[in-house]
Amino acid sequence: MIKAVQVYKSYENLEVLRGVNLEVPEGQMLSIIGKSGAGKSTLLHILGTLDPADRGDLWIDGVNVLKLKQKALADFRNEKIGFIFQFHYLLHEFTALENVCIPAYIKNDSRKKAEIRATELLDFLGLRDRLQHKPNELSGGEQQRVAVARALMNKPKVIFADEPTGNLDSVNSNELHQFFLRLKADFGQSFVIVTHNLDLAGLSDRVLTMQDGLLIDN
Ligand code: ADP
Repeated sequence: MIKAVQVYKSYENLEVLRGVNLEVPEGQMLSIIGKSGAGKSTLLHILGTLDPADRGDLWIDGVNVLKLKQKALADFRNEKIGFIFQFHYLLHEFTALENVCIPAYIKNDSRKKAEIRATELLDFLGLRDRLQHKPNELSGGEQQRVAVARALMNKPKVIFADEPTGNLDSVNSNELHQFFLRLKADFGQSFVIVTHNLDLAGLSDRVLTMQDGLLIDN
């Protein structure tokens, strides 16, 4: 599903990624751990096509994404990739339902089709009676679940999550972990998760550590 070959990235004199190689098969949940500043977020942003690498190759779902032009890349990202961040970036003037619909609207799906799927997802995530609430009327855990539903809206092939539980207490973290496992079982998505949470890492199929600009097996 994801294949990265010899990925390099520097910020001025700081070489952050030093030839990272990675393959993530379909349906695999991979966690990446490592010290703060090791380059985990940098790698996740490159794998998620949000930032360019200096050098290297990257295939996602068989597509050489580094060859895509800006518009094609934006469409590819909207349809194939879901992002979950520590801070959920929900739009505060919109309801939970509307926030979840946005990726479908970008893809020009009809409002009716989008709302049916968004309602199903919010139901799946235990938010059936929160559809019309705005983010500031939801708890932190509920907001994060809305963000998860939004990430799943276009049935992405892969979910990239950067410290998804970084802002949650242990009860909400555990709930989110259980949701990830259900998603993997029910939808067969691949996950790449950057986390400090060793419980979450422990639930993954595979854990790699970012160290000295490379990914190493534990
Ligand atoms: P991690 O996610 O493992 O904590 P990051 O990928 O965020 O690490 O950062 C790796 C290193 O790159 C850090 O030393 C950080 O300060 C540096 N860095 C990250 N982004 C930038 C940037 N946009 N400009 C300059 N340096 C950056």
